[in-house]
Amino acid sequence: MSEPFTTHEVFNQPPPLEDVNLFTSDVALKNAVEREGAGAVREALAAFGQVAGSAAALERGRLANEHLPRLKSYDRQGRRRDTVEYHPAYHALMRTSCEEGLHSSVWSHLVQSGRKPRPDAYVARAGAFYMSAQMEAGHCCPITMTNAAVPVLLQEPALAEAWLPKILPFRYDPTFAPAEEKTAVTLGMGMTEKQGGTDVRANTTKAEPAGGGGAGAEYIVTGHKWFMSAPMSDAFLVLAQAPKGLTCFLMPRFLPDGSINALRFQRLKDKLGNRSNASSEVEFHGAHAWAIGEEGRGVATIIEMVTHTRLDCAVASAGLMRFALANAVHHAEHRTVFQKKLVDQPLMGQVLADLALDVEGATALSFRLARSFDRATDEQASAWRRLMTPITKYWVCKMAPAMVAEAMECLGGGGYVEEAPLARLYREVPVNSIWEGSGSVMALDVMRVLQREPEAVEVVMEELAEMAGEDSRLRAAHERVQSFLQEPALLDLRGRTLVEALAVLAAGAILKAGAPAAVADAFIATRLAGAPRQTYGQGLERADTRAIVARASPNHV
Ligand SMILES: Cc1cc2nc3c(=O)[nH]c(=O)nc-3n(C[C@H](O)[C@H](O)[C@H](O)COP(=O)(O)OP(=O)(O)OC[C@H]3O[C@@H](n4cnc5c(N)ncnc54)[C@H](O)[C@@H]3O)c2cc1C
Repeated sequence: MSEPFTTHEVFNQPPPLEDVNLFTSDVALKNAVEREGAGAVREALAAFGQVAGSAAALERGRLANEHLPRLKSYDRQGRRRDTVEYHPAYHALMRTSCEEGLHSSVWSHLVQSGRKPRPDAYVARAGAFYMSAQMEAGHCCPITMTNAAVPVLLQEPALAEAWLPKILPFRYDPTFAPAEEKTAVTLGMGMTEKQGGTDVRANTTKAEPAGGGGAGAEYIVTGHKWFMSAPMSDAFLVLAQAPKGLTCFLMPRFLPDGSINALRFQRLKDKLGNRSNASSEVEFHGAHAWAIGEEGRGVATIIEMVTHTRLDCAVASAGLMRFALANAVHHAEHRTVFQKKLVDQPLMGQVLADLALDVEGATALSFRLARSFDRATDEQASAWRRLMTPITKYWVCKMAPAMVAEAMECLGGGGYVEEAPLARLYREVPVNSIWEGSGSVMALDVMRVLQREPEAVEVVMEELAEMAGEDSRLRAAHERVQSFLQEPALLDLRGRTLVEALAVLAAGAILKAGAPAAVADAFIATRLAGAPRQTYGQGLERADTRAIVARASPNHV
């Protein structure tokens, strides 16, 4: 019933989109999970979708972003502590995601008999992570970093043996105490310095061997990091200059004798979005750390962590785009304008369908990438993982800000107000394209594959040709990419063109094979063929926009 006010009744305002199952109400997500081989976990994902989309969980997301983390440098008596205090809602979100295993599930096999990974571990995790980002995106940062740190730790067996038993359990323990006293731990990373983030070889932070030095040995680290997120992590993977060059270290918050390690947080960043997640500036005043890998091999050692975080950036961005779309469609289905539901106004139908196509493409490509991590021993999947990780990260994360802005506009003025989730989503989304390798850095990574691993490009191009089949538009897009590859002299300048062309071709080919014809045909007609355009709601006059929007609706299932 509408609520009585003194002067007017409140009507024609949609109910909030909450207590919605983020899995069962999302047809594109369900299709992607099945298509990429994780159908066996659909019930578990449906159970998590209920939790993540509950009104209580979404409210925790709001609270964690309104009550920001605070740096507490000293305790009451003036002793140095360097801790960060979070709102209880943040801890509750962390608990939800950790108990779902999002920080470690793909590594569960390490403690199981046979030590054989589940064939669907990454896709299954991606399904839940996609929903966790919708519940609240900021807390996903430590979740991602903990998961991504594991393959690096595995390179140093003694450290892995000490830390994995605390990382792998599906638990969360926020206590500020030595890892041995805790039931669970999380990990962060510190690479970026003031004078260089992308160019980590410019790092000036120094590491001196405490004894003989070398892989697994103890070092004393002095210097700084300009960004180090999730400062209450129990340990960090840190890059620093050892005598023989840039080296990767594990730096714990507490030393083996139980004292606090010499990490001094200077301040927390005042960020555009991602506000529930603390990001610190930190100095290391002779902090103790243990080398992972040999001196001088820092970048090669930490690269697996970076690759894993790039997958998560794409999956989370696709999830955030989905949440923006679901809110836009939900609003349009409930709001009447000029005697018609907004969703039935022809131009709104064009815009919503167009937004849905980007979400379909982003979701399809992110989950195909997750599958390539599951099958990394297979030559085709391994080539896909190498080439398509930077491409997927680039395309999905870069699309998100414009897409979320248009979705916000679908809600009119109410979309711009902080109480609606769209405003927070809009401030959140740019971060995924900036951190873990910004746009041009992704394009440069693709150039590196072309130069050093051309066979991976060949394998992916062959697979895409097969997927294109007889579709003339996909074939033309494939030929266009081939023509770029045949002009290596221009690739330095065409990096972004090539990346986008490959992303759209791959997304179109996946949708062609696995999505309803209405979706695949409209995606291909507008993204691979058709007139160039810069804004949404164009080129779909012959498409079945009703079918596309109905599939995107969170209310029709
Ligand atoms: C919210 C947030 C949290 C973060 N948390 C962490 C963290 O926990 N740990 C951590 O280590 N870092 C963290 N970062 C840092 C982040 O990873 C870096 O900011 C990022 O890698 C870019 O580095 P930079 O800021 O030094 O920019 P630069 O490296 O100076 O890059 C500036 C621009 O130049 C472009 N560019 C760089 N090289 C080239 C080139 N050769 N050709 C063309 N263009 C180029 C880049 O794409 C970018 O657009 C965080 C950043 C943010 C925003």
